[in-house]
Amino acid sequence: MGVIQIAELQPHSIHADDVLKQLSTSSTGLTREEAAERLERFGRNTLPRAKPLSIQMLFLRQFLSPLIYVLLAAAAVSFFLERMTDAIFILAVLLINAIIGTAQEYSAERNIESLRDLVRTYARVVREGESFEVDAEECVPGDVVLLEEGMKVPADLRLLETHALEVDESLLTGESTPVSKDASALLKWNAALGDRVNMAFAGTIVTRGRGRGVVVATGRETELGRLAGSLTDVESAKPPLTRRMEVFSANIAKAVLIAVILIIAIEVRRGMDAAQVFVQSVALAVSAIPEGLPVALTVVLAVAVNRMARRNVIVRRMVAVETLGSCDFIASDKTGTLTMNELTARLVAIPGHGFMEVTGEGISPEGEIRTAHGKPTEQEEHIIKRVVTAAALCNEAFFGMRDGRWVHHGDTVDVALLVMAHKVGVRQADITARYPMIAQIPFASERKFAATLNRVDGRLHAFVKGAPETLLEMCSSMVTIDGEAPLERDAIERCASDMANNGYRVLAIADGALESDEDFSDRRLKGLTFLGLIGMIDPLRPEAKPAVARCRKAGIEVAMVTGDHPITALAIARELGMAQGMDEVVTGPELRKAELIGKEAFDDLVRRARVFARVEPRQKLDIIQSLIRLGRTVAVTGDGANDAPAMRAAHVGVAMGKSGTDIAKESAELVITDDNFASIVAGVEEGRVAYSNVRKVIFLLVSTGAAEIVLFFLALFAAVPLPLLAVQLLWLNLVTNGIQHIGLALEPAEGDEMRRPPRPQREGIFNRIMLERILLSSIVMGGVAFGLYKYLLGTGSSLDEARNSTMLLMVLFENIQVFNSRSELRSAFSLSPTRNPTLFFGTLGAQLVHIAAMYTPWLSGVLNIGPVSLEHWARLLALALSILIAMEAYKLVRRRMSGNSHVSVTEPLD
Ligand code: ADP
Ligand code: MG
Repeated sequence: MGVIQIAELQPHSIHADDVLKQLSTSSTGLTREEAAERLERFGRNTLPRAKPLSIQMLFLRQFLSPLIYVLLAAAAVSFFLERMTDAIFILAVLLINAIIGTAQEYSAERNIESLRDLVRTYARVVREGESFEVDAEECVPGDVVLLEEGMKVPADLRLLETHALEVDESLLTGESTPVSKDASALLKWNAALGDRVNMAFAGTIVTRGRGRGVVVATGRETELGRLAGSLTDVESAKPPLTRRMEVFSANIAKAVLIAVILIIAIEVRRGMDAAQVFVQSVALAVSAIPEGLPVALTVVLAVAVNRMARRNVIVRRMVAVETLGSCDFIASDKTGTLTMNELTARLVAIPGHGFMEVTGEGISPEGEIRTAHGKPTEQEEHIIKRVVTAAALCNEAFFGMRDGRWVHHGDTVDVALLVMAHKVGVRQADITARYPMIAQIPFASERKFAATLNRVDGRLHAFVKGAPETLLEMCSSMVTIDGEAPLERDAIERCASDMANNGYRVLAIADGALESDEDFSDRRLKGLTFLGLIGMIDPLRPEAKPAVARCRKAGIEVAMVTGDHPITALAIARELGMAQGMDEVVTGPELRKAELIGKEAFDDLVRRARVFARVEPRQKLDIIQSLIRLGRTVAVTGDGANDAPAMRAAHVGVAMGKSGTDIAKESAELVITDDNFASIVAGVEEGRVAYSNVRKVIFLLVSTGAAEIVLFFLALFAAVPLPLLAVQLLWLNLVTNGIQHIGLALEPAEGDEMRRPPRPQREGIFNRIMLERILLSSIVMGGVAFGLYKYLLGTGSSLDEARNSTMLLMVLFENIQVFNSRSELRSAFSLSPTRNPTLFFGTLGAQLVHIAAMYTPWLSGVLNIGPVSLEHWARLLALALSILIAMEAYKLVRRRMSGNSHVSVTEPLD
C-alpha cells in the first residue's frame, strides 16, 4: 500500500477493520521492521516544544526593572550635567551586571530544561503479536497500543476494543468528567471531538478500564499537536519563592529610595551641589539595593534541581524545592517504596494442617514445598496443587520462558504466585489452555480481591484470591486432608494473623462451582470453598530504615499508608522504627467510622496514626487533607491513578518513576526515579540546603547594603561630606556583590541540615536571627567605616585620601562578610574554602581587581582612588577584621544559647 494519508482519514467514521487496512496493519500489530521504517518516515512522536528564551531576550530582560530605570535616569542626568565619567561608568556597571545575570540565568534554565527530559512516558504496543513497552516517542501510525488505567494515551488512536474504558479529555475539550469509550460505535464524519467515543487522543489520560487501539496519528498530526500552539504551559508560572523574593526586593528598594531621598533633601538644604548629591545618592541606592537577588535565586533553584537529579529526584514543579525544605510529614506507600516490591511466596497454610515452607529465592523457578516432615504426602500435594492452580488461573501476570530466558511481567503479587505454582509443577500456559477463562474481575485495591470464571471439564468454576477477611465472607466450607468440612473462620483468622505478625503479606485462595456465567461480580461469589493461605515476604529496602531514622532526627514524621493488613503493616513499621504498637495503627474502616462522627474525630485518629492500613486509595486524600488541617507540611507518595487527588492536595506529591502511572507523574511535583523512600529524604535535604542558601545570599546582599546606608547616615548626622563618590559606590557594588552572591548560591550542604527541625511553614525569611545578624553586621561595618573616615578627616587627610581609605575598608569589609555569610551558626573557620572554589576564588579575584584598580592609572583616576602604603593597608585590614570578630562572637553566643538543639535559632520572630 502507498503513502498513508493520516490527515484525510476520518477514522471515527470508518469501521475499525477498514482503518487497520488503510494503515496497512492488523490487530496483531506491525512487524518490527515496518515499525522502524515508519519511524524513519513519520518521525518521532513528539510535539514541538516551546522554545526557551533566547540569550538576547534574557539579556534584554535584565533591564526590565524599576531599579535599572532609575539608574538610566541617573546616567542621563550625569550626561546632561556633563559628568561624563559618571555617566559612562553607570552604563558600564549596568552592562556588566546584565552580562553576569544573563550568563547565570541562561545556564540555569538550560539545566532545568535538560532535566525535564528525564521523565519519560512509555507506551504498551503490540508488534508481531507480542506486547511490550516502548518509549512513547517511538509510536508510529499503524502501531497497536494497549491502554490501561492511569496511562497517558501516547498518540491518536482508533479504538479496536474497549472494556469499561474511560478517558479524561479535559486537556483537549475542557470537559472534566471522563468520557466513556466504545470501540464499536460508528460516528458521522463531522462528530465533535468530545463525541468521538471510538477514538482516544494523545495526551489524554485513562481513568478506568482497558482498551486497545491503532495509532492513526502521531506528533504534530495529533489533535493535541494541532492545539499545542494555544496550550498554556503551567510550568511557566513563577515559583512562590521567586515571587516572594521579587516583592521583597521591591520593598527593600522602596526603603532604600526613601533613605536616599532623605539624604538628598538634607544635603541640598545644607547647600550642597544638588547634581552631585543626586548622582551620589542614586549610586548609593544602586549599591544598597540587592539587585542580584533574583539571579542568585534562579541559580539556587537550578543548583538544587541538579543536585536532586543526581540523587534520583526529578523536580517537575519548582515550588517543590522550596516546600520540601519545610516538609514535616511524609506519608509513604509501603509496597515498593519502603519495601523492594520483590515478593516471594514463603508459606502455605491449608486448613487444619499447619504451615508448609516454600523454598527458593526471588523470581526463579527453582524451589519446592516442604512440610514439617519433609516432602508433602500425596494428599497434601493434591491440596497444594489445587491452591496454586487457583492462584495461577486467577492471575493477571505472566511468568514463563521466552527465547530461552525466564521472563515475567505484571503485578508482583501475581508473579510471586506463578513462580510458586511453577515450583510444584503447575504451569500457567498449561492450565490456562486447559481451563479457558470466561470472565474476570481484575484486582483493584479497593476490592481487595481478584476472581476469574473458567470452564473446567465443561462446568463453570470460579477462582478467587485476595485479602483473607474479604474471602472468608465468600466461603462456606474449606478443604482439609480428609475432604471438605464446614468453614472454621476463627482458626483461619488466627492463622492469618500469626503470619501477618511476622511481616508476611497474607493472601487467601478459594474456589467454587458457579451455575451460570451471567453477571460475574462479587455478588455471585458465595458459598465458595476456602483452600488456603499463602504468606509472602517483601524484603525491606535496606536504605529505608536509616532514612526513617534520618527523618526522625530532622523532625519529620513518617507514616505508612497501605492497603495491606494492619498486623502485617505494623510488623513492617516496627522493623523500620516507624511505629511501636497497635495504638499507632489506624485502619480504613476506622477512618470511615470517624468520618461519620465528624472532622475532629477523624483528625484525632490521624494525629496518632503512623500506620494507615487497609485504606482504600480514595481515603488517602482524606488523610492528607486531615494532616493539612493539623498544620502539617505534607509530602505524599503515589503510583496509581487513584493516588492523583491525594498527590495534588498534598504540599509535595511524589510519584514513583518506575512503578508509577503517567497520571501519577503528571500530578506530582517530584518524581523519584528509583521508587526509593530514601530518595525522598535526600530531596528534603537538598530542599533545606537550597532554602538556607537563599538566606545566605539575602544576608550578604542586605547586610552590606545596609552597612553603606549606615555609613552615609552617620556622615549626614555628623555633617561631613558624603563619604563615597557615585563612581566609588558603583565600583564597590561591583567588586563586592558582583559574583560573591552567586558563589553563595552554590554553597554545598553544611552537613547538619538533617539535624535541625523543619522550618515552620509560615516563617518568613526575616526571622529573628536574620534581623539580628543584619543589624549587628551593618552597624559594625558602617560604624567602623564612618569612624575611620571621620578620624582621617580630623587628622589632616584630604577628602580624597579619606574617601580612598574608606573605600578600601568597605571593600575589605564586604568581602570578609562573604565568609561570614556561609553559615548562620558555624564559625567561618570551620568551613573550608575548598568546599566552594567559586566563592573563594570569586571573592579573592574581586579583591585583587580592586587592588589592581588602585594601581591602574586611568581607572584609579576615574574612581578617584590611589595606592596606599603597605602599613596603612595592614591597618585597614586589621580594622576590617572587626566584622569577622563580631560575627564569630555572635555565632558563639547563639550556639551557647541554643545548646545542642537548634530550635530557638530558627524560631519565627512573631
Ligand atoms: P499495598 O498498599 O500493600 O500495595 P494493596 O492495596 O495493593 O496494598 O492491596 C491490598 C490487599 O489486597 C492486600 O493486602 C492483599 O490482601 C490484596 N491483594 C494485593 N494484591 C492482590 C492481587 N494481585 N490479587 C488479589 N489480591 C491482592
Ligand atoms: Mg499494591
